[in-house]
Amino acid sequence: MGYSKKVRREAIQLIQERKLNAERDAENRRQRIFSEIPDARRYEREIASCGIRAGRAVLKGGNVREELLKLKDESKRLQAEYEALLNEHGYSVRDTEPQYTCEKCGDTGYVELDNRTVVCSCLKNAMVETACRELNKRSPLSLCTFEDFKLDYYSKEISEGYPRSAYDQLSAIYQRCKDYADNFSKYSKSLLMIGKTGLGKTHLSLAIANEVIKKGYGVIYASAPTIVSQIEKEHFSRARNDEESVEDSLQECDLLIIDDLGTEFNNKFTTPAIYNVFNSRISAGKPVIVNTNLSIRELNEVYSERFVSRIIGEAERLNFFGDDIRVLMARKARNN
Ligand SMILES: [Zn+2]
Repeated sequence: MGYSKKVRREAIQLIQERKLNAERDAENRRQRIFSEIPDARRYEREIASCGIRAGRAVLKGGNVREELLKLKDESKRLQAEYEALLNEHGYSVRDTEPQYTCEKCGDTGYVELDNRTVVCSCLKNAMVETACRELNKRSPLSLCTFEDFKLDYYSKEISEGYPRSAYDQLSAIYQRCKDYADNFSKYSKSLLMIGKTGLGKTHLSLAIANEVIKKGYGVIYASAPTIVSQIEKEHFSRARNDEESVEDSLQECDLLIIDDLGTEFNNKFTTPAIYNVFNSRISAGKPVIVNTNLSIRELNEVYSERFVSRIIGEAERLNFFGDDIRVLMARKARNN
């Protein structure tokens, strides 16, 4: 699964903390139980000693089988007495053992499957949670879902020069975005959301992000100015952290959403930087959602023809038009 190194590291850390906590809690319980029932400690030692003696018997050779059977019986008897003693005091053996959050992997994050070590579902979930939290840091993700997208604000009248009403257009775009999220895969198409501010581009792309994250994919959402400034900072910073490059994360995630393309400060460094991010993903067959307030003509003025034709050629274009719904929403709120 394509998560940034940072997300992977934080998720693994979370699982390791769970394991440590479970083992520390078990150790505390064990010590408490042993101080209450001193004989229990003796049983535990004797059971362990059976194991050690079995090991020695194997090394020594001779009549190993008979010796092992004897030790097995002894161990069984001690286990039963140990269990009975704990039960007498209202405990069980389980109380002295770590209670892992994930029983499948014992909070290691990995399980054996057909002689292979694979990532456990708990680690996958931790990566989703971490990626989601990362995304939330930069955007009001929780506020932007398909459910709370309000189509009613869009006009049902057809303005001159437009093939249909803003309402019909946005209804179609809304449905397309929902289908996109429902059917998302690592090889989904890229989208270009184009249109003036306040028409719901950010809302719908975050709604897609929400759904895609829920499916367990790694998503990065960032505005073009943020992407450019992070790459720039990394590029010009001497204390560059090699193991965690921003460009790696942007390349590795399953879905990259670049919001507000065209609002970043453009110079000889930034324009190629953003093109490279887009281009390397497209070349690897990985989807990008690009949002921009600029028209195609304006994009052509800001970026190279190569960049613009690559976006237009690779991404499915969604044309947002109509009146700024934030103005309409504010007006409606005032009138209520
Ligand atoms: Zn697990």
